[in-house]
Amino acid sequence: MADYKAPLRDMRFVLNEVFEVSRLWAQLPALANVVDEDTASTILEEAGKVIAGTIAPLNRSGDEQGCSWADGAVQTPKGFPEAYQTYAAGGWTSVGGDERFGGMGMPKVICAQVEEMLNSANLSLGLYPMLTAGACLSINAHASEELKAAYLPNMYAGVWAGSMCLTEPHAGTDLGIIRTRAEPQADGSYKVSGTKIFITGGEHDLTENIIHLVLARLPDAPPGPKGISLFLVPKFLVDANGALGARNSLSCGSIEHKMGIKASATCVMNFDGATGYIIDAPNKGLAAMFTMMNYERLGVGIQGLSLGERSYQNAVEYARDRIQSRAPTGPADPDKLADPIIVHPDVRRMLLTMKALNEGGRAFSSYVALQLDSAKFSEDAATRQRAQALVVLLTPVAKAFLTDMGLETTVHGQQIFGGHGFIREWGQEQLIRDCRITQIYEGTNGIQALDLLGRKVLGSGGAYYHLFADEIRQFTASVGADLMEFTQPLNDAVQTLDELTAWLLDRAASNPNEIGAASVEYLHVLGYTAYAYMWALMARTALQKQDQDVFYRTKLGTARFFFARLLPRVHSLAAAVRAGSESLFLLDADQF
Ligand SMILES: Cc1cc2nc3c(=O)[nH]c(=O)nc-3n(C[C@H](O)[C@H](O)[C@H](O)COP(=O)(O)OP(=O)(O)OC[C@H]3O[C@@H](n4cnc5c(N)ncnc54)[C@H](O)[C@@H]3O)c2cc1C
Repeated sequence: MADYKAPLRDMRFVLNEVFEVSRLWAQLPALANVVDEDTASTILEEAGKVIAGTIAPLNRSGDEQGCSWADGAVQTPKGFPEAYQTYAAGGWTSVGGDERFGGMGMPKVICAQVEEMLNSANLSLGLYPMLTAGACLSINAHASEELKAAYLPNMYAGVWAGSMCLTEPHAGTDLGIIRTRAEPQADGSYKVSGTKIFITGGEHDLTENIIHLVLARLPDAPPGPKGISLFLVPKFLVDANGALGARNSLSCGSIEHKMGIKASATCVMNFDGATGYIIDAPNKGLAAMFTMMNYERLGVGIQGLSLGERSYQNAVEYARDRIQSRAPTGPADPDKLADPIIVHPDVRRMLLTMKALNEGGRAFSSYVALQLDSAKFSEDAATRQRAQALVVLLTPVAKAFLTDMGLETTVHGQQIFGGHGFIREWGQEQLIRDCRITQIYEGTNGIQALDLLGRKVLGSGGAYYHLFADEIRQFTASVGADLMEFTQPLNDAVQTLDELTAWLLDRAASNPNEIGAASVEYLHVLGYTAYAYMWALMARTALQKQDQDVFYRTKLGTARFFFARLLPRVHSLAAAVRAGSESLFLLDADQF
């Protein structure tokens, strides 16, 4: 496998040249003195070094060895604790953290690039700090000042880790039916009892303490999602001075044996009257979790991109090296027995699909991260509100589309290796196995699609969708005829989406099955259109600078491939949406 190289040039292109982030940061008082183009460049370069040098080399051995469980303790693979500690000691676990508690206070758009690198290098290892960052977000947004002060500094420092305990054996997608209980105690704490399954990083040997955020019901809670509260439950209790005290009454019952991310411990967690502290008001637990979820869902989307990028780096190297058959137009390298496979149209199709989806995905995830930053840091209420609406609309697209494209990309990356892609030592099959979970956890991609179409698009009467569509139209109207080859098909795609949205608003009013029947294809049409918008933005910059450097001419070539060969997929997806739900219900359940 090729050594991982952080795609710093491309990241800088997206941040500085396409989105001109430093101009945005300068306008936001909360960021103006915290970050500029140079700081961002240094952060990404330094993160890239430690990630490529220390963490990437453990990806394959971590997969081979996996985690092990004995008597409630989990051992991560050889080298993981040391690599994690190097990463934490460098301050990388605190990049996005609140400065009041020792975080670096960097905007999400920087964290997104660091996450991309970390997950490309080693998704299993990356999950531990990612879960911690998610838990910190919920604590910072919803917990009491006392809890924040007691827990956040050590969590940002990476000395303690976090976990998110939602899923139960009978309650996955439907969290409204969870059974874990929390009994109030005289001192204001709670006793939490119940079993959670599939808990990433529920137990491990990377940190001295693990802070679990647990969804549970109070004794008098109303049924369903409105009766769920959120609790902070530490593995080791923490005394008034912040020192570690007694072990809490919770334990890891076992770990799962799974298809991929084998070095990430997926734990059954038993809470037996464990001491916990409520976060936010009683019965507001799901709302508190959702604070974390918008960030986490974008983060999971980025995992798909990360694996696609890693697979691409390997595939390009292989396609240049491997010689097999002659180019259809005659020998490209007559001195060799055969030509490198990169001459073949089908291999180029796969490589360019990977490249176009990765770079489109990097721009799109950065765009969503920028909306998260505007929603958080802008001083102007209207800007915040607009950005928040875009976050609400685009988060399920980022989670599901980036991971669906991640799987497609990693499969192309395997195919380019032929039979060698199926063999473990080349590493391409691991990337597919690791990628597969990204479509499932943090809400399956089917549920993301329902959320997008049902709650966000139709639920807002189309308003959130039109906000995004209008922004694209304003962009295409504002640029010159030299961009027509990109703006025209982009406008056509938006027109298709307009028609689908109006059609679905009408049809879903009389038949609720139309939403679930159309949702996955609708999300994909929106995803390809969003990528087309990103590619048109990138093409604008590349067109202006094409004479300066081959980098820009490569960008233009890739943009042209995206519009010629990938955007047309919206037509068949739109036809599937328009076919409606009828054919899904022609069979009775016993006819399957
Ligand atoms: C490796 C791994 C790590 C995980 N990490 C965590 C973690 O850290 N914390 C945590 O709490 N959980 C975690 N999970 C759990 C994960 O989030 C759930 O598996 C996921 O949300 C789906 O729940 P489920 O498995 O119960 O599937 P189910 O909810 O049973 O769904 C089964 C199928 O039915 C579909 N479906 C369900 N309801 C609907 C509907 N209304 N409409 C249409 N289709 C529907 C789903 O899309 C899916 O295809 C993890 C899981 C794994 C495998």
